[in-house]
Amino acid sequence: MSIKTVLKQHAFINGEWVEGSGGDRFEITNPATGEVITSISDCSAQDAQQAIAAAKAAFKPWAAKTAKERCQIMRRWFDIVIEHEQALAELLSTEQGKPLAEALGEIRYGAAYIEWFAEEARRAYGDIVPTHKGDARILVMKQPVGVVAAITPWNFPNAMISRKAAPALAAGCPIVIKPAEDTPLSALALAYMAELAGIPKGVINIVTTSKAQEVGEVLTTHADVAKVSFTGSTEVGRIIMRNGADTIKKLSLELGGNAPFIVFDDADVDRAVDGALMSKYRNSGQTCVCANRLYVQAGIYDEFVEKFSAKVAELKVGNAFEDDVVLGPLINTDAVAKVEELVGDALDKGASATIGASKSDKGELFYNPTILRDVSRDARVLREEIFGPVAPVIKFEDEADAIALANDSEFGLAGYFYSKDIGRVWRVAEALECGIVGVNEGVTSAVEAPFGGIKQSGLGREGSHYGLDDYLELKYVLMGGL
Ligand code: ADP
Repeated sequence: MSIKTVLKQHAFINGEWVEGSGGDRFEITNPATGEVITSISDCSAQDAQQAIAAAKAAFKPWAAKTAKERCQIMRRWFDIVIEHEQALAELLSTEQGKPLAEALGEIRYGAAYIEWFAEEARRAYGDIVPTHKGDARILVMKQPVGVVAAITPWNFPNAMISRKAAPALAAGCPIVIKPAEDTPLSALALAYMAELAGIPKGVINIVTTSKAQEVGEVLTTHADVAKVSFTGSTEVGRIIMRNGADTIKKLSLELGGNAPFIVFDDADVDRAVDGALMSKYRNSGQTCVCANRLYVQAGIYDEFVEKFSAKVAELKVGNAFEDDVVLGPLINTDAVAKVEELVGDALDKGASATIGASKSDKGELFYNPTILRDVSRDARVLREEIFGPVAPVIKFEDEADAIALANDSEFGLAGYFYSKDIGRVWRVAEALECGIVGVNEGVTSAVEAPFGGIKQSGLGREGSHYGLDDYLELKYVLMGGL
């Protein structure tokens, strides 16, 4: 199957593949080669308004379907995505750069949200609550919030769409999606699969644009949008929150992270090394749950750094379509510049690189996997989200020190630690200030589990049986005069 079978070049509004109203187009490039893949519709504020109007018109009939009907249509969507998984993965690797096997993993992971929420659609139970009045009964019912706007990032061009669209549709809400300007093709392909599945017009709309601010402002301020679901930087999350203030939008925000990865003296060091490899280098370090700071206890520090460096030396950098490649390119020149800046700052403040700390000769956007040891505690790399294949490793003395260092961040998304001491496992899991904790595990994401952060990492949870609640309102009905 070739990517041509799933490649779309127009925005998808009200069930039609359309040019933007201004007739503009913008180019999508392959980050591994710099080659232009295609050009697509560059939508404006006016197109975003049309998409919201289409979603509004689609809301009542979609919500009026029985949960089983919505479930069946979504299940078809899931099946069609899986039928096309190879082409979708190739398209994803072409526009985003991640190795093909990883892209295929993302398509399946993304599809799992469609499958899961198709099932959950039928379990949006309400309650009958013990009454406070003999002649009345208290009912609590759940209803869809209304039109949802979603703004998504480039690091998971497929899964970040389905993670929002699936619970929205299951709850009975139509959705208008603005995918990231670097990777809109996977979003369009997913909408195409939805069209093939028979999802009614207006229920899913994709507004592709290079004008994030202009279109984003419409989506986050429009009175007919009830809820905004955003994944991206904390900086843009703040803008979205401010934009939504006048109309009191419901918000789900999955923002930046600064995940600590702690290895205690009593850990299985080899397991911790494997976990660190996965947690740090998957997607070339470009996930919000990637280990950002590695804290290793003094007694095993040298052993860990040595074993970790040996494993990292085996990681192959290259084009997504080459065999055995583990690290693809970074997404764009800004990403490479930021990584270079953070590594430079750490080296200036006394760190040394056991491996990497340089661009790769594979192409403009490739950066070699890097380990920095003896990183100063005031290095920027410990405070800012790196979003690149760089692992700063810091020595700590005791448990209290590790917890204090880990929690010294305004972010609170994921945290990881390795220990075999059951008492310590409980203490540290409870003490870490984050929404997701991996204990002796470096990768935690699963559709069955709630994904989301505390502190300035966001609001709300995606996935799990809690995930549907973000798209539902509670309505309390007091039934009196009985
Ligand atoms: P990243 O740093 O990962 O690129 P961003 O937060 O910049 O994350 O981008 C995430 C999403 O937010 C993208 O779809 C992007 O186009 C969008 N975006 C960027 N700026 C704005 C804005 N001012 N209003 C709404 N959306 C925006």
